[in-house]
Amino acid sequence: MSLFDVYPLFDITPVKAKDVYVYDDQGREYLDLYGGHAVISIGHSHPQYVKAVSDQVAKLGFYSNAIQNPLQEALAQQLVQISGCTDYQLFLCNSGAEANENALKLASFVTGKSKVLAFKNSFHGRTSAAVAATDSPKIVAPLNGQHQVDFVALGDLQGVDTILKAGETCAVIVEVIQGVGGLDESTTEFYQGLAELCKTYGVLFIADEVQSGFGRTGDFFAFQKHKIEPDIISLAKGMGNGFPIGGILIHPDIKAVYGMLGTTFGGNHLACSASLSVLKVMEDEDLMANAMEVSAYFLEKAKELPGLKQVKGRGLMLGLEFDFKVGDLRKKLIYQHQIFTGSANNPNLIRILPPLTVKKSHIDQFFNALKAEL
Ligand code: PLP
Repeated sequence: MSLFDVYPLFDITPVKAKDVYVYDDQGREYLDLYGGHAVISIGHSHPQYVKAVSDQVAKLGFYSNAIQNPLQEALAQQLVQISGCTDYQLFLCNSGAEANENALKLASFVTGKSKVLAFKNSFHGRTSAAVAATDSPKIVAPLNGQHQVDFVALGDLQGVDTILKAGETCAVIVEVIQGVGGLDESTTEFYQGLAELCKTYGVLFIADEVQSGFGRTGDFFAFQKHKIEPDIISLAKGMGNGFPIGGILIHPDIKAVYGMLGTTFGGNHLACSASLSVLKVMEDEDLMANAMEVSAYFLEKAKELPGLKQVKGRGLMLGLEFDFKVGDLRKKLIYQHQIFTGSANNPNLIRILPPLTVKKSHIDQFFNALKAEL
């Protein structure tokens, strides 16, 4: 093998995909309830998306950020319009980790401080500052330990207060619904209290919406349910429907300085055309409403399942927690029922992150398969 062997791979080779189905090199069809890890938002190879990206690459795929790129401006305007984050400014990059890296760096520039507060069981990516704010010692190298990060339990406002009052923290970074950690979410009282503490101590509030954003929860962003106004919102995954793009939305009170952030590839023409197409399809097909409707159906169906402890998450960011380890069950779902699902740090949890185009019939297919195995 000539590849650096860091991924324990399933023995499947996909060669094409359409909407919520993926097809392998043997012609087998798989139902994709994993969305390539919450990445496929508007469905695989959506015809409008294919046309938009193909047309753009035929015209101009890339040029540097040293020249005007009207697609970036169009993306910024449409993003704030559809998300409701009026007057926020957009900085574009290539991935979720990079979005968080830029968010943390910006917070440090703005406040002049360097400590970060993150939450237990968090995942923010694998670049240096982002991984240091990730609660998973297995993926944090000694080099990353140079970043000073305090970890507090999600929901522990008192713990947050104790750390922030020391006056050394530039940012609090939080996944309102923890993804990899296992779909935990605290209360509105907690998130509002957290935002309030950030204001009191002059700390920036970073909402990591890399996984939960772009309509996945039925709201455009998961934090919107809690009626808070983050200083920085990080984005990626569903933003490009598979085309690598990330970004941060920045509160209008934060002023840009030339050169403080930058990138070669971020916000290139091709990436912007992909993301503009995602937003257009989301609106045209009312995919956030579909996410809510199919989610409600999923919750009803889940009530019939034996061995189920609870359903976690909301919208189409869901976790089924069983009273046993689900590794074998997920293998059976893939190899015997041809259904992709996701795992989490919690070994008893199956994660469901389908394209937002998923239909009730697909949920029936999933529950029939589950019932056959339980
Ligand atoms: N933040 C969250 C909440 C994520 O779930 C992920 C990836 O799973 C990241 C950040 C990192 O994104 P990327 O893998 O695009 O760097």
